[in-house]
Amino acid sequence: MLLKHKDKPRGPYEVIVVGSGLAGMTAANKLAQNGRKVLLLESHNKLGGFATWFRRNQGEHIFDISLHGFPVGMIKTCRKYWSKEIADSIRQVHRVRYINPQFEVETDFTRTHFTSVLVEKFQIPRATVDAFFYELETMNFYDAPKMTNGELFEKYFPRRNDVQRFLLEPIVYANGSTLEDPAISYGIVFSNFMSKGVYIFNGGTDRLIGLMKDELVKNGVDIKLHSKIEKIEIQEGVVKGVWLDQEFIQAPVVLSNANLLSTIQNMTGPEYFSEAFIKKVKAVRLNTSSCQVFMGLKAGAVLPDIGELIFTSDDPEFNTDLILSPKIGSQTFSVYYPEMRPDKEPRYAVVSSSNSRYEDWKKLSEEDYLAQKKRVIERALVGLEKIVPGIREMIDVIDCSTPLTVERYTHHQKGSSFGTKFEGLEVSMNLHKELPGLFHAGSVGIIMSGWLGAANYGVIQSHAVETYLDLLTKNQLTQEGQIHV
Ligand SMILES: Cc1cc2nc3c(=O)[nH]c(=O)nc-3n(C[C@H](O)[C@H](O)[C@H](O)COP(=O)(O)OP(=O)(O)OC[C@H]3O[C@@H](n4cnc5c(N)ncnc54)[C@H](O)[C@@H]3O)c2cc1C
Repeated sequence: MLLKHKDKPRGPYEVIVVGSGLAGMTAANKLAQNGRKVLLLESHNKLGGFATWFRRNQGEHIFDISLHGFPVGMIKTCRKYWSKEIADSIRQVHRVRYINPQFEVETDFTRTHFTSVLVEKFQIPRATVDAFFYELETMNFYDAPKMTNGELFEKYFPRRNDVQRFLLEPIVYANGSTLEDPAISYGIVFSNFMSKGVYIFNGGTDRLIGLMKDELVKNGVDIKLHSKIEKIEIQEGVVKGVWLDQEFIQAPVVLSNANLLSTIQNMTGPEYFSEAFIKKVKAVRLNTSSCQVFMGLKAGAVLPDIGELIFTSDDPEFNTDLILSPKIGSQTFSVYYPEMRPDKEPRYAVVSSSNSRYEDWKKLSEEDYLAQKKRVIERALVGLEKIVPGIREMIDVIDCSTPLTVERYTHHQKGSSFGTKFEGLEVSMNLHKELPGLFHAGSVGIIMSGWLGAANYGVIQSHAVETYLDLLTKNQLTQEGQIHV
């Protein structure tokens, strides 16, 4: 049930999930479907984490934050772990465009079409293209990283900056990957996207999260919003529960969907882990953050069909470092047509996204921060005007988010929009081996990030939780002399 502000959680619980991002919600739902007693605590006033939206002008405009596109695998994941209604609302994005000084391409973002572009437009031999895709497909995230993205591209497309741009730019936009990152994370993310295109959710994020909330409640999950957990209670080396507003809530398992480093360093405390483990924790790098500009069109204004996802850049060459810097000349436009929310008043919205480093924003004075926000908004308008002349006059509402906004709303350290780099995965997966009862599910290692990665990781970690709970039961029964294992 959805607990009200004054309601106290009705324990005892078997699992407390801290955070309602897609990983936290999917894990909570799966555990509840298996009959587990689950409490889901979220610090924000709504579920979803990054999978969120906001309204302007009394709800006339609804803006999606992270609904730009996800892989086809989300359909299967939603059908298996959520509901048919959710799975059936997922549809393919048809027009994905690249516009930059090196080339213009329109694609449905499938492997078949990418192959034809690489062969016909970029004149790459077919055998090389096939070998490249084969190498990506056979990458496995349990394997040790063998080469970097830079090395992978040099191997197949030496000195072809344009081909690198075509293949890597969307992934850099999506998750801040660089040429120095392990090729394995690129390979897995790219193969996911490239198999059958990019997908989106009909009805918007508000509808998706509403349907997910109904499922959670139907399956018996207790949900409490406005509940920021500061402390996970550990006694005699095992998890005992959490503290919420000076109130102790007991559970043998805490599954944290909060930022991995905050979970270990702040909510638990490094003293509960081995030195060797903390050394690994300290080596985990966070991913970069992002800026977004939200543009809502006036009532009655009509956009022509310019595509749904447009990767644009003014930079003459592709450079991952530049894409992450304030001098960026690249941005992605996501275009939302009225068909997205057919039951609402017809409105168009465009969201521009660009990668950003937290450090570049954190150091600014308030005055400089506001001035920099204005520059980001202006850059979005100028970029969009090149695609739709006169768009400036059609806009009713415009707003901008920065890495500091991301930090404030999700408590992710440094406003990281895709969790941690590759090394975070091992730390996250081994958390419960260090501290029995403590689990983590949430954006880590690039691979377990994004809507599909996070949801799937929630499922993976729910299995680990089940195994632990089964073991606890067996041990208790053994102690009581009822069964012997
Ligand atoms: C701008 C942007 C655009 C994106 N676009 C896409 C896209 O197009 N496609 C895609 O697949 N992915 C996209 N992503 C990434 C994707 O949204 C995320 O990887 C995914 O949603 C993260 O899910 P998560 O489970 O890791 O949790 P998060 O979404 O990080 O949620 C964690 C939750 O935990 C809560 N929390 C944290 N600390 C506490 C605490 N102490 N107590 C209680 N609650 C707490 C937070 O409030 C939050 O609700 C985008 C991300 C950003 C930022």
